[in-house]
Amino acid sequence: MTEKQRPLTNDEPGGRAPAQPEVDAESAALIEAFLRGEGAASADWRAEPLPPDHKSGFVAVIGRPNVGKSTLVNALVGQKVAIVSPKPQTTRRRLLGIRTRPDHQAIFIDTPGIHDRPLHRLGTQMVESAVAIIPDADVILFVVDVSVPPGPEDAHIARLLPAKAEARPVLFVLNKMDQLRLETAQARIESYWALLPGYADSMPVSALRGTNVERLMSHILDRLPAGPRYYPDTQLTDQTERQIAAELVREAVLRYTQQEVPHAVAVLVEHYEERPNGVLYVGATLWVEKESQRPILIGKGGEMLKRIGAAARKELERMVGNQVYLELWVKVRPDWRNRPRDLRELGLEE
Ligand code: GDP
Ligand code: MG
Repeated sequence: MTEKQRPLTNDEPGGRAPAQPEVDAESAALIEAFLRGEGAASADWRAEPLPPDHKSGFVAVIGRPNVGKSTLVNALVGQKVAIVSPKPQTTRRRLLGIRTRPDHQAIFIDTPGIHDRPLHRLGTQMVESAVAIIPDADVILFVVDVSVPPGPEDAHIARLLPAKAEARPVLFVLNKMDQLRLETAQARIESYWALLPGYADSMPVSALRGTNVERLMSHILDRLPAGPRYYPDTQLTDQTERQIAAELVREAVLRYTQQEVPHAVAVLVEHYEERPNGVLYVGATLWVEKESQRPILIGKGGEMLKRIGAAARKELERMVGNQVYLELWVKVRPDWRNRPRDLRELGLEE
């Protein structure tokens, strides 16, 4: 990992974490306060004593689209940090899910699905950002969906791994085991095993039901190095409040729209402020790519947009523990998925 992603701690030689930019410390404090629903974060979390055998590290979660990577990250963290949907390519950018316990801090890197047919610049960026993380991780979780037979994309990732992972431990996560049938389970699992050479251990799990998730965690812990905490113990993700709000709106869009429309939508939160009456006001723009997509997203008499807003507002209120007033607008940004400037504005390209 780079210095920026892996900040120094006060315990490390050289002392006062000079490499950590101010802005990181500030956003960390904001997220913590937000997720706790409290005031400022404790300033001295780095000074807290840890057990001598404390472990920590970065765990990359990779796999083809829709296998349940984000669901698994949420299950491992124990809280929802990533949006989930039955549609492929829900996760557009890498994000962290941080799990802190007395004896460890595991930082999961949820990634967009790896596939070999990106159709636009955004798709290419998504795949590249997932592949790029492999050599930086301490442990790699290669997630597959055992409810269906292995496909060419799983094989593609399996071939990519040894070269990119070098000496890094790989855990082969056989997800959606709740969908297996007893008669065919053995043959299905064997067809997945055939993808990977002997160096990877496998674990059947159901991320959705939580089956074997803690067992998987203990295998991850066996492979994590000794190390300090990199984030305060209450911080669950690296996303800002605005980013989380935008993702929750996008999750509602994914839930209610079909075919090309959900993938053509980007969400930009433009207002995010607590009003004097205690209500959180969130204003967000939904970008679509074509004029023809606008009426679909708005719906008859604004019906669709209302539905999306109501679902996102409920999730937001649950998260902030407060009343939320959510306002949504729909705008056309032609071909935004291919435009570097638009992608940068959305935080989808560096
Ligand atoms: P990602 O694209 O790999 O991040 O996949 P998501 O986490 O968004 O999940 C894709 C779909 O698979 C969603 O509808 C999830 O509810 C579903 N899913 C995830 N894990 C499981 C599981 O263990 N069992 C079942 N039956 N469905 C799952
Ligand atoms: Mg995902």
